[in-house]
Amino acid sequence: MSSTLPSYEQAAALVAACAVQLSQVQPAIERVELGRTTGRVLARPLSADRDQPPFARSTRDGFACRAVEASAHLSLVIAGTTRAGEPPAGPLPPGAAWEIMTGAPVPLGADAVLMLEHVETSNGHVRLLPSRTVEEGENIVAQGAQARQGEELLPAGTAIAAAQVALAASCGHSALEVFARPRVAILTTGDELVPIKFSPASGQIRNSNGPMLAAMVVAAGGEPWVLPTATDNAEALDAALAQAVEADLLLITGGVSAGKFDLVEPALARAGARFHFTGVRIQPGKPTVFGELPRQANPASRTPGATNILPIFGLPGNPVSSAATFLLFAAPVLAALAGSRDSGPRFALARLAPTIDRHTKAGLTRFLPASCTFGAAGQLPEVTFVPWQGSGDLAAMARSNCFLVVPEDPHRLQPGEIVRILLP
Ligand code: AMP
Ligand code: MG
Repeated sequence: MSSTLPSYEQAAALVAACAVQLSQVQPAIERVELGRTTGRVLARPLSADRDQPPFARSTRDGFACRAVEASAHLSLVIAGTTRAGEPPAGPLPPGAAWEIMTGAPVPLGADAVLMLEHVETSNGHVRLLPSRTVEEGENIVAQGAQARQGEELLPAGTAIAAAQVALAASCGHSALEVFARPRVAILTTGDELVPIKFSPASGQIRNSNGPMLAAMVVAAGGEPWVLPTATDNAEALDAALAQAVEADLLLITGGVSAGKFDLVEPALARAGARFHFTGVRIQPGKPTVFGELPRQANPASRTPGATNILPIFGLPGNPVSSAATFLLFAAPVLAALAGSRDSGPRFALARLAPTIDRHTKAGLTRFLPASCTFGAAGQLPEVTFVPWQGSGDLAAMARSNCFLVVPEDPHRLQPGEIVRILLP
């Protein structure tokens, strides 16, 4: 009975509780060349190796000066020039200004930089235009204003993207200590599945969930371990599960519905699984199973920090269901195993396009393939449903870039209404 199943929020809370428990164990640490750290997670805090900026830096091309003198619109003699890369000049003599370039150190004694566009120069002198004023500190970033030497810039657990790479480079790190990626076993199940390179016979389809989940695991900071597809029989599933216990996380697709050949849940039970939920009031993805398998702590494990439980998700086989439930439930667990502070599904607000009718289904939170366009600054993105033929419609999903969240209470969505979207 679906009314006895947990709501999306209840299921998400169970996942979050497990993620907190898993995040107590620190993953193994490895040193990786900076250029290959994108998508990894910092294992140690990143600290400033020197003040940032390391010297009082001019943010403009112009003239370093004393603000009181320049504000009085005195004609200041240009006493010298500093280019970026040169050491700080000075001290600046009284009544003088110093030509300076963006990024160059401000001469000692100067307390402001006049922008080139705000001055007139003649005969080796410079004067602030009558219409302009200047204040102390203007166009200068003081030494250490961004960070002091030794100060923590990023905590351990920060996900690394381009900005973090740049910061690490500025601190002199050509390599970083990052957490080992969790190894995520991907087990697709189904008698009808053939590998990509095979020509499907009548009634067969290609296994698309394997490659899809592998891509999603990589994007979420895991290392995919794609197991051979298991057929819909107890022996095949038992054998596959026995192999998969070596992983840090197990994703199974297919075989979790109520059909005669949906044998995953009994196989997990035989292997000793404890279930957190077996079904959620969502659509697509209602049969999703979340549990854990106990296992021996293995000191020889590839991931020394591995816990003695193996979290498992049984995701419904339909591709849209698999994708949505991965983002909703598996990604937060993967983030915890990866040592990331950044977990949980990524929800955002958007405005519903004007052409919307009813898409609600009483008693189920829906996550429907949708297309979101990012418009003008200050405006919410606009989101519209992508027409689809149900949760097997891979083409519709590939044309979408998010899922639109339709709340469980059956109110009718109005055009222009603010809604939640789930981002990949
Ligand atoms: P199941 O969850 O096993 O009942 O499967 C639901 C639907 O998803 C069926 O139409 C399956 O053929 C399809 N399906 C299951 N596994 C995959 C897969 N790995 N790739 C593509 N489609 C799949
Ligand atoms: Mg199946």
